[in-house]
Amino acid sequence: MNDLSLTVPPLAAALIAENFRAGTDGLEIGGLPVRSLVSRYGSPLYLYDAAILRRRYRALAATLEGFASVYFSIKANPNPGIARVLVEEGAGLEIASGAEFILARQAGCAPEHVLFAGPGKGREEIDLVLAAGIGEVHLEGFDDIALVGTRAAALGRIQPVSLRINPGAQAQGGAMRMGGKPSAFGIDEEQMAEAVAALKQQPALKLTGIHLFAGTQILDAGVLLDQWRYGLELAARLAGLAGHALTSIDLGGGLGIPYHAGDATLDLAAIRSGLPALRAALEADPRLREARLLVEPGRWLAGPAGLYVGALRAVKQSRGQRFLISDGGMHHHLAASGNLGQVIKRDYPIVAPDRLTAPLLADTQLVGPLCTPLDTLGRQTALPELAAGDLVAVLQSGAYGLSASPVGFLSHPMPAEVLVENGRSEVIRPAGTFQAPLVNARGEGSFWAAAAE
Ligand SMILES: *Cc1c(COP(=O)(O)O)cnc(C)c1O
Repeated sequence: MNDLSLTVPPLAAALIAENFRAGTDGLEIGGLPVRSLVSRYGSPLYLYDAAILRRRYRALAATLEGFASVYFSIKANPNPGIARVLVEEGAGLEIASGAEFILARQAGCAPEHVLFAGPGKGREEIDLVLAAGIGEVHLEGFDDIALVGTRAAALGRIQPVSLRINPGAQAQGGAMRMGGKPSAFGIDEEQMAEAVAALKQQPALKLTGIHLFAGTQILDAGVLLDQWRYGLELAARLAGLAGHALTSIDLGGGLGIPYHAGDATLDLAAIRSGLPALRAALEADPRLREARLLVEPGRWLAGPAGLYVGALRAVKQSRGQRFLISDGGMHHHLAASGNLGQVIKRDYPIVAPDRLTAPLLADTQLVGPLCTPLDTLGRQTALPELAAGDLVAVLQSGAYGLSASPVGFLSHPMPAEVLVENGRSEVIRPAGTFQAPLVNARGEGSFWAAAAE
């Protein structure tokens, strides 16, 4: 089968050409047919290809070489099996909870390569990460400054911290779409001097840096570069207020990936060509010259590496509308159902792994098994003629998938998560009930096989 003869929609075709393969046994991930993985591990199923994660990490690290290092925002996919691949490649991890710190350690990340952001940190979380020697804690408000300062003092540690700044209205100009609004995240730019004064009251805290992160799913390199440039301006002002040099500048995540027909692909070459100007601004400022810069994307690194696969249970027509009813749905993939905060519900790229060359029928609805009309993964989806038992796969599903979904709703089984690389597959989360994993005697992930034993 030749990729060029696929009849899938253009975005799906481009993604398959970039990351997957259409073989004689249908769609392949990491050299293995999706169909064979479903036979082995059951459906629904999350599949990830480690090689895609590695490629993306390396591409971004090469783009930012000499400018910034790459951290992975673990909330995008908190399975330690995913983070481990990126940590092996050299990524640090950005966490936003104490439990994510435990996952980061399970992924093999050294505590000094972890940074902790998040607006409502608890005392127990702070104690856990401080005692373990976390690299940086990013402070998001005055209570955060007081809490981390008190706990660091109690634990006898001098803790490096950054201030997360919520940019002011002046950052609104041009292509910039950040800040200026009230926010639970970070300290308002207007309060930066007050925050520095509060930090100076905490002898156990050492202000080493600044953290900026205002938006997600940015597809325009110019917008990112503008935000980063503004971040460097704020860093210079913060260093001025602090009266000393900064050693850490976190420019945030937010790098986007295409999900919908017509979405752009973030242009890494355009980012690269904007970096010398930023580098020059840093070099010109003695208080920023020595700073280590980092970015902390989640979606961009992990999103394209994952597929969410379901098997059809029924196909029906209702008043002229074709419905495909899958065993997979919003309970595992809320984002693909358009219910994870999206303003406009648009389809993710969806294909039928076994029927990549069959003619498409337009305006199909792909729904899940839940008793709610919210459980719709495809609204006006072009999919071929399909029957019960056939597979459907949602592309771009490696970030904000399972962990961002209402997995307990309706008590369908939790899907297995399987990591593949170069023709090998490994269960990184066995299938189970919402409450507990179920593993069958063969140690594999098929829920119903395990339940029957
Ligand atoms: C969620 C989050 C990220 C990652 O965002 P993406 O859009 O997935 O890149 C990075 N930093 C912080 C502080 C976050 O909360």
